[in-house]
Amino acid sequence: MSNARSLPADAPSAATGDRLRITEIFYSLQGESLTSGCPTVFIRLTGCPLRCGYCDTGYAFQGGEWMGQAEILERVVGHRPRYVTVTGGEPLAQRNCLALLRALCDAGYTVSLETSGALAVDAVDPRVVKVMDLKTPGSGEAEKNRYENLDALGHNDQIKFVICDRADYEWARELIARHRLSEVCELLFSPSHGRQDPTQLAEWILEDRLPVRLQLQLHKQLWGNARAR
Ligand code: SF4
Repeated sequence: MSNARSLPADAPSAATGDRLRITEIFYSLQGESLTSGCPTVFIRLTGCPLRCGYCDTGYAFQGGEWMGQAEILERVVGHRPRYVTVTGGEPLAQRNCLALLRALCDAGYTVSLETSGALAVDAVDPRVVKVMDLKTPGSGEAEKNRYENLDALGHNDQIKFVICDRADYEWARELIARHRLSEVCELLFSPSHGRQDPTQLAEWILEDRLPVRLQLQLHKQLWGNARAR
């Protein structure tokens, strides 16, 4: 079982060895990205340096428990998954995340990383599918975007925009054109839950013939805001 301790929740950098601070590990259907609908094990790491206005995982900012890499892998294998997603919080805020991603790939899983785009992704194992946000102005965290990360993305990766309103949509549209992002990788548009009407967003995408994929959060349609779903 876990070696949970009452260490400060905001101290993931205090990890020693290969330990990581983990909020939860659970098995569900992938709700976003190109593997939406596929049974997946999620490893949610604790802590995030950002505070997006629409964040629905604030419970992962603090708390969690320390786990060694072997224990994490043991928890994963019990679900016999094909897909494993490392998420947060911001997983890359913990330095041992890189070794965990490598170990999951070595174990034969198809691994994806959900990351805010605010931290460097160039050291992530190339076998990992990076699903990287570009934070829109509506998130309140757009100034944290690390645009150098675009050079580290390949055709297997995905860029996600959470659209809060028309201004966000136009911002994303302009960014896609300026950086020719459709030539880099798949582009995902998610309407911010309760702020952007999905049908309206779909109409805008069609009007502009944008080379993006509209995604609705499948897990929220199935289970609402329930945790570990
Ligand atoms: S980066 Fe993700 S986890 Fe962090 S505040 Fe933003 S939405 Fe929440």
